[in-house]
Parts: sequence; C-alpha cells; structure tokens
Amino acid sequence: MSSKLSAVKGMNDLLPEQAELWELVEAKVSEVFRQYGYRPIRTPIVETTPVFVRAIGEVTDIVEKEMYSFNDALNGEALTLRPENTAAVVRAAIEHNLLYDGPRRLWYFGPMFRHERPQKGRYRQFHQFGVEAFGMAGPDIDAEVIQIGALLWQELGLTPFITLQINNIGSAADRQGYAKALTAFLEQHVDQLDTDARNRMHSNPMRVLDSKNPEMQALLASAPLLTDFVSDESKAHYAALQALLAAAGIAFEENPRLVRGLDYYNNCVFEWVTQELGAQGTVCGGGRYDGLVEQLGGKPTLAAGFAMGIERLVLMLESLSLIPASALQVVDIYVLVVGEGVVAEGLALARSLRTAFPDLGIIGHCGGGKYNSQLKRAYASGARLAVILEQDADTSATPNTVKLRRLDDSGQSETTDIDSVVAKVGEFLSISA
Ligand code: ATP
Ligand code: MG
Repeated sequence: MSSKLSAVKGMNDLLPEQAELWELVEAKVSEVFRQYGYRPIRTPIVETTPVFVRAIGEVTDIVEKEMYSFNDALNGEALTLRPENTAAVVRAAIEHNLLYDGPRRLWYFGPMFRHERPQKGRYRQFHQFGVEAFGMAGPDIDAEVIQIGALLWQELGLTPFITLQINNIGSAADRQGYAKALTAFLEQHVDQLDTDARNRMHSNPMRVLDSKNPEMQALLASAPLLTDFVSDESKAHYAALQALLAAAGIAFEENPRLVRGLDYYNNCVFEWVTQELGAQGTVCGGGRYDGLVEQLGGKPTLAAGFAMGIERLVLMLESLSLIPASALQVVDIYVLVVGEGVVAEGLALARSLRTAFPDLGIIGHCGGGKYNSQLKRAYASGARLAVILEQDADTSATPNTVKLRRLDDSGQSETTDIDSVVAKVGEFLSISA
C-alpha cells in the first residue's frame, strides 16, 4: 500500500454528520440575512495581495504574519488567499459600480485562510459569514447589523451564552491624537514591553492594545484611554447607538479596550463574545468602516458590517448539546430491488416515490444481492419502511405487486398492487402524497 495522505494542518474535513449540522446553521443564517433584505455576493477565494494589505493595514497580525501569499507561477503577480472578506467585497463593489445608486446590503459566506497556530476554535482554513451595509451613516444601520447578530444567536439557542461588547474608537483623526499619547506612554514603559509591542509602538501603537500577552494587558491598564480623544460628534453617534440598542432590548457591555484586529474600522465597533470557548471567545466582530471604500479607490461611501466564524458557533452548539435533532439527515424509505430483471423498474419505483413524497429521504438499493442482504442494508440505513420489488424467482416475470415492510419491531408487512404503492406508502407512514 502507498503511504497515507492527510489534510493540511489546521484545515479540516467536515464529515457527513458535521456537514449536515453546518448546512442547518448555514440555512438559518442565510434565512435571517434574507429577512433583513441583505443580498448574497460571492467573490473569489484569491485576490491580489494589495486588496488586503491596503484594507487591513501593513502593521496588523493578519498582514504581518497570517496571510497565505504567493506569486502566480505564470506571471509573478502577488496573490493572497483571502484572510477575511470585507476587503474583497469592497473591491468587488467598487469594480462593479454597486455603490452609486443608494444603499446596498450584502452578505457572504465562505472559507478564509490565516496562517495561525491551530487550536480549538482557531484554524488555518475557517469559514465566515458576514454582512456589509453600504451608504448609510448610522447609528440606525449599526443597530441593525447588531440586531441581526442577536437574532442569529436566538435562532441557534445561543443567546444566554453570548454577550455583546461595544466601543467607540473614534475617527481616523481622533485616533492620530490618541496614537501620539499612547506612544508617549509606551516609551515611558519601554523596558516592560514585549517584542511585538516594541515593534509596534511607533508604527501602529493601537495594535499594542490588541496584545494577547497578559503582562502587556496589565501594563495597559494604566495607559491613556482612547475615549478621552474621541470627538463630540463621534460620541453623540455612539450614545445614539446605545439608545437604539437599549430600545431594541439588546444588552451590551462597554469595553474601552476593544479595538479590533483590522485597521479599517472607525467609530462604533463591537464583538460578540462567549465564555464557552476558552481563549477563542470572540464569535463575531464588526463595526463601521467609513473610510475603506475610498481607501480602495472608490468614492467616499459610509459602511458598517460584521464577520462571524461558523466553527466557533458549531463548537458552542456541540459543547452545550444544542444540536437540533433536525440537523441529521434521515432516510425514511429503502427500496429493495431483488433480481437483475427488475433494476430498471426499481429505479423508476424509487423515482416515483420521491416525486410523490418530496420531503422524504428515499434510498434505492444499488449493487444487487439477495433479499436478506438488501434487508440488512435497509435496517442499517435507519429507514422506517422497506418497499420491496422482487422478481419472480421461477418465472423471472416482472412483478405487478410490491411488498411494504415496517422496519420496526412490529415487522408489519403487506403486499400491494404496484399501481397503488404511493397510496399504500402514505398509509404506512401516515402521510398523504
Ligand atoms: P481572534 O482575536 O480570535 O484572533 P480576530 O479578531 O482575528 O479573532 P476577526 O478577524 O474579527 O477575528 O474575524 C471575525 C470572526 O472570525 C472571529 O470572531 C471568529 O469567529 C472567526 N475567526 C477569525 N479567525 C479565525 C480562525 N483562525 N479560526 C476560526 N475562526 C476564526
Ligand atoms: Mg486573529
């Protein structure tokens, strides 16, 4: 035997049971987006590298060390597997002139790639849902995108386990003033800084606030606060958002240290966090990014949105035993096809049952074999009912009757005319076709 191959580290296979749970989550999430009038957009998994460098910022964890970047072997073009999708959606919206005729509400879902150290809730290929709302100043649209998150947790039964944190990080100009004060503070404590913090204290001091090093976090407890540098206009926007959230019954905590790991955000930012996942506690993050469209070459366009990782949501559903029974696909009927001469009739029979009962899962036996071995398969499939088409062993004639057999302890069975099989199946399963 040849040596075994395995998946790339940090990139996961989803086996059927898990993939079915994902499908259920995907269906619920996309339904909520649709209810809010958001329309889907799909962009390529690969973009030219400047799309991300210009949007996310040179001095960020993502751009500095997490991107899968490579040169196209044919023309040398610098390309990157998308580490997030806001930048790509903005690129596409500009390229296709989506931002010139009023507001746009868009959503996406798909794989993202970051070269991180794999651990529970942190992978190298992961999947994000996101919404992007263009052309609206807020705070009403900010409240809307937050409300969408709240509704999603409700739909998934996760509301008691997820809390909302918000912060106001001000405008780009506000942050420049703050960056100066923060750099001065960091310079005073340079002996206590770790390497990352030292590297960033001049190039992007606010990134130091995002440090996961507990010693840095302790030191930062006495650092100047961004809130003190934020303009009155921005504060008014933030206060109005809080009032809208309160009116909508959405509880929130203010977290003055919340800065987000991407440079394009401004004013209101938020994260939905949980205690259920250890260090990987953020399930969804977002905020306003009013400067990004212009920064990527479009005309100035106000914007707000969020991205959430489906892996962390699924981990929560699993660890809290909240997986709905309806997530697993069920087989209802197994059609036995006994005898080589009835294969075509067997296919047609299964097909007509699927047409009559579109909501049921119906497996048509393939691969031949004797009655008993097919019946074993039928039981193993989990089906409730076996529909048996059997060629006459003596005459080889095509049968004009079909046998129905309950695959439960009763083993109740009945032979019926092939023309009335649909009605009989309906009777057995207590449903009408
Ligand atoms: P973290 O602080 O955990 O690294 P982040 O700030 O890098 O998160 P964002 O870029 O804001 O995360 O992405 C939004 C969401 O995408 C996260 O809240 C999380 O659910 C998910 N996510 C981000 N990175 C990963 C990853 N490597 N593996 C799984 N999910 C991820
Ligand atoms: Mg990260």
